[in-house]
Amino acid sequence: MSKLSIQLTALALATGFAASSALPATAMQATEQPIAIAIHGGAGTITRENMSAEREVEFQQALTEALQAGYAILEQGGESIDAVIAAIQLMEENPLFNAGRGAVYTYTGEHELDASIMRGDTMDAGAVAGVKTVRSPIALVRAIMENSRHVMLSGEGAAQFAREQGLEQVENSYFNTEHRFQQLERALERLREQHNTGDQIAQHVDWDPAFNMGTVGAVALDREGNLVAGTSTGGMTAKQYGRIGDSPIIGAGTWADNDSCAVSATGHGEYFIRFHVAAAICARVKYLGESIEDAGHYVIHETLLPAGGTGGVIILDRQGQVSMPFNTEGMYRGSLVNGELTIGIYQQEE
Ligand code: ASP
Repeated sequence: MSKLSIQLTALALATGFAASSALPATAMQATEQPIAIAIHGGAGTITRENMSAEREVEFQQALTEALQAGYAILEQGGESIDAVIAAIQLMEENPLFNAGRGAVYTYTGEHELDASIMRGDTMDAGAVAGVKTVRSPIALVRAIMENSRHVMLSGEGAAQFAREQGLEQVENSYFNTEHRFQQLERALERLREQHNTGDQIAQHVDWDPAFNMGTVGAVALDREGNLVAGTSTGGMTAKQYGRIGDSPIIGAGTWADNDSCAVSATGHGEYFIRFHVAAAICARVKYLGESIEDAGHYVIHETLLPAGGTGGVIILDRQGQVSMPFNTEGMYRGSLVNGELTIGIYQQEE
């Protein structure tokens, strides 16, 4: 861990993580191109009343570590793509989040993982849907972007490509966690109460914000001024097997364009796909000249919410400005911009 990271951890701990903590101006390197990273760990029914103090600290630490891992790369002059991958991989490995280990279950009791990544300089992108045995879906989408002729692979073909690329394979049970299994049981119980037959269940699965929190995403800006966005998820609890959400859909769950902004989304995927949320936000910035804050507010609060779509996004522009709008009770989120750390969980941070 770098000295800066240790200072940030100490600062973050001292401030209870909730508030921003600024480094001395000398560390800000104001004359240089700003560097920045922002992450989310899912949106949903996250309230202070339902959160134990212990769990709150676990999330705050996990978010801080992911931000620091990505930021350390940017600080050393590394590329935003490496920063995004490093931050997301830490969260994929952490069972707190619905990505990699800790992913939610399909209604048949398996894990099917979705992910995507996009570069703002070249508009190159990579995406994967429904992989079951690739330990790090975010590493796979990078390989698809850089080493295949395609943007998106799914299922067995994606797994085969991952093997050819030498990416680590695991049993599907590697992603198992007790708390996600209990969420599946509760979701199935609720569905059985509503619908008589097993066959009907899959048709009626709905995104319940109480069951689906934890998708992860990151956006980063490096010293070259390049933006990258990435997202990784297990999808929705008790989803129909074969269901694909917004997270691997370029333009819906992930988007990056150096002419506007980088976005990663989390929420009820069916709505994010139909409203093309990530690309819509950047289009408003690019073509209407809106700020990322106004564009994000419009899409999340004025378009998505009235239509019934719940969730949120993280947005980053080339000036290093960050906006993290969401229309749910909470969203695990954080940013580290020129040494300034901000972590948030609830709608109102103290
Ligand atoms: N957007 C994800 C999906 O629909 C779920 C989430 O972000 O919680 O698959």
